[in-house]
Amino acid sequence: MAKLLLAATLLCLGLVSVRGLTNEERAALLTGAVGLGNLDIVLDPQNSDYFIVSSHGMPNHTLGPWGRNPNDATHQNHIYRIPKNPTVQAEPSCTPMGPIGLALSGAAIYNPYTGECYDAGMLEAEGFDDCKGHPSPDGTYHYHITPTCIFNISEVPSPIIGVALDGFPIYGPTDETGRTLTSADLDECHGRQVNGQYRYHVTSDFPYFLGCFKGAPVDAQITGEPCECTERADPCQAVNGNEPPQGDAPGQLPFDRDQLAALGIICPTDSPNDVINDHGHGQHGNGSGSKSTVSGAMLVLLTAISINMKL
Ligand SMILES: [Zn+2]
Repeated sequence: MAKLLLAATLLCLGLVSVRGLTNEERAALLTGAVGLGNLDIVLDPQNSDYFIVSSHGMPNHTLGPWGRNPNDATHQNHIYRIPKNPTVQAEPSCTPMGPIGLALSGAAIYNPYTGECYDAGMLEAEGFDDCKGHPSPDGTYHYHITPTCIFNISEVPSPIIGVALDGFPIYGPTDETGRTLTSADLDECHGRQVNGQYRYHVTSDFPYFLGCFKGAPVDAQITGEPCECTERADPCQAVNGNEPPQGDAPGQLPFDRDQLAALGIICPTDSPNDVINDHGHGQHGNGSGSKSTVSGAMLVLLTAISINMKL
């Protein structure tokens, strides 16, 4: 009876503990679908309600080259405490910069944003290696999008490929019926229930891995971090004179109109304060486009909004 009351109270508060990683999922993460297992997951010796998930952050697959990204991948000391039975939050929480999960290759999983809140999967793609990863300035090798070499992409359903730092598993994009999932098939945090258990899926569309944390991370390395980005910034606004996308390394990203167009992002061309038209191509903006008038800025804003609505 007391248990029932407690459960009812927690339900009212919106806090429900549910099953996290199963034994089978842990085993799959430790070995890896294609022999790339680089994770360690053990029970927390101080509190058996938690797992300690760790890795040195260097996958066995080929690393690099990373295009214009000048950073190097270096050994890391990834150690995170995750709940064995995650608590589903009444209000999901946003994901901070830095690791939000670990893949079975041992690499970190990051949120979908560049440092300026642009879509990293699109704007940093030039610097991704064959497995779709790249290093940050501190040497942390990470994925923003589907790491195609760490699992068998044609397997139905997709296997588990990692674990989020709130304790929920992350699976590949194919469901039990062989259908390739997209974000439209998933909830706001990019997950769904399968046989009563919550899981995230990586998909080929934004936000790729996680849209938010469905569960509550418990590790202080995560809980203490603010979320710098909660939605995608419009790269066309950068073209039109705002801070350009710079991603993991200053100056590494394309940002002028032609380069964005090559990535499938078509920016308006009739803006009166178009920094590209004013100053030529390839200039890495430093605020030089800020001479715009108020009406010019309004026009850019309205154009950007109308473009956003079409996407
Ligand atoms: Zn990155």
